[in-house]
Amino acid sequence: MSAFKNRLPYAAPRSNKSQPLKTPPEITALAKTLRETRLPSSGVRIGEIFLKPKQVTIAPLNFNRARFELLRGWHDYQVEIGGRTVDLSLQLYLNVNHHYRLFGFCRCGSAEGMMFSLNFTTAKDINGIIGLSQKIQFREGRDGDPERARQIRGAKKRIMAEILVRSGFDVTDNDEVNLGTYSATQKAFLDTTPEAFLSQFLAVALLKGHLQGNKGYQFACLPRYDDSFAWKWDSTAEVMGALGPNKRGRRGARAIPLGLRFRVLERDGGKCVLCGQGPAMGATLHIDHVTPFSLGGLTTLSNLQTLCDSCNLGKGNRSKRSFVQE
Ligand SMILES: [Zn+2]
Repeated sequence: MSAFKNRLPYAAPRSNKSQPLKTPPEITALAKTLRETRLPSSGVRIGEIFLKPKQVTIAPLNFNRARFELLRGWHDYQVEIGGRTVDLSLQLYLNVNHHYRLFGFCRCGSAEGMMFSLNFTTAKDINGIIGLSQKIQFREGRDGDPERARQIRGAKKRIMAEILVRSGFDVTDNDEVNLGTYSATQKAFLDTTPEAFLSQFLAVALLKGHLQGNKGYQFACLPRYDDSFAWKWDSTAEVMGALGPNKRGRRGARAIPLGLRFRVLERDGGKCVLCGQGPAMGATLHIDHVTPFSLGGLTTLSNLQTLCDSCNLGKGNRSKRSFVQE
């Protein structure tokens, strides 16, 4: 634990040592939105697990330099997991790679550390768009046994992806979890709400902490890792049943790369192009091939459009054979 603290991995960039940092306007706006956001009343959901983190003042989890923290004091919580009290702190600040990242830190008993983080810096090749996605990965080390460490990392990644997919999260074929898209120009989330984003971020962070296995808490009902490299599968069938079917198989080779999905969403203003509904009105948005992939339609900006659930379904009804797989 102390080794983690001493590394100070997210200190200010050296090049800006003497100058105050200018936070990009889109990050300032996003931080403001997040400060004004409260968790939805349903709390945080992972499959059939419902958590209700309480907003409280906790002893600081200091992994950062305070002057860069844009959410300080706004997203500190406590939540009960498996009979233990877990302190949570969400922090947004600049890391050594000059990226603004949202971090989820936790403390439980004598264990504390970072669970999950998300890059909030505008991707250079996608103008004005911040894709709120992160590859699922574990930094597991095993002294003197790199092969074993690799196996453990792979196993954790697979189980995390499966739990997320079954819980209704958007996980791409290459194991990126996508929590939404933010438009710097519109200063708004395009395909999610701030509440849903925050709730999903916390869910992913808590699940990752559970699978890391060194954060002091464990969900009793989820598959978990123990040090003999045996997954606790006893309850798996039951748990996975409760989480729902694995919906991953539906994607396939015409999967739309995240960057392209973000651009389609930005072009369409984060709304269904047919009925105009967006996430603020409860609509779930999908990126749809105009000419279906199965009929030779390309996965390009001009052949993609944003549709809500019901319009997507309506389209399927009119032309089942062509659109059933869209
Ligand atoms: Zn629609």
